[in-house]
Amino acid sequence: MRMLIMGPPGAGKGTQGVEIAQHYGVPAISTGAIFRSNVERQTELGLVVSQLMAKGELVPDEVTVQIVAERLAEPDTAPGFLLDGFPRTVPQAEALDQLLSQAGRPLQAALSLLVETETLVARMLKRAEIEHRADDNEASIRRRFEVYQAETAPLLDRYRSQGLLVEVDGVGSVDEVTARCAAALDAKL
Ligand code: AMP
Repeated sequence: MRMLIMGPPGAGKGTQGVEIAQHYGVPAISTGAIFRSNVERQTELGLVVSQLMAKGELVPDEVTVQIVAERLAEPDTAPGFLLDGFPRTVPQAEALDQLLSQAGRPLQAALSLLVETETLVARMLKRAEIEHRADDNEASIRRRFEVYQAETAPLLDRYRSQGLLVEVDGVGSVDEVTARCAAALDAKL
């Protein structure tokens, strides 16, 4: 299964990404998690991305695409992969299409989690209390919504017109949403 999961900040991409990847026996690849791990370990990449992330801005496309290209070259992606949080811009989506078509393994589904804005804000404020993520403060949360609307939401049309979009209601318990996603994905394949 070669797929990606999309949704606004707080929609549950990370949580569902891990569950769904496990269901299909493929690795969940989260660009946000890769960047956070680099920030924690204070790597060269971590130093480049930490300020951008803390402000809710995107990491430049070239940097992000290279990270994903390297990760997709790892042997554990042979049975497939689930990309979480990538692509987030049109140039990233174009780079991904090119990368995968060159490898002869095109995307099979783009899962979009649908959640109302008020629910998203409430979830993110709750997560801020629990996880203490550097980018879960009010200014950064607002900025991440703006960036999502401007840069990432247009990708929904791209994947719809490619016949890959699978939209799922993201409200409910983790298990309920995972079951809904798996049913919608199984119906698609
Ligand atoms: P996430 O964990 O997906 O919410 O990502 C956290 C942060 O990492 C984002 O707000 C961005 O600063 C950065 N990031 C993650 N994925 C990408 C991407 N595909 N393109 C650019 N920046 C990204």
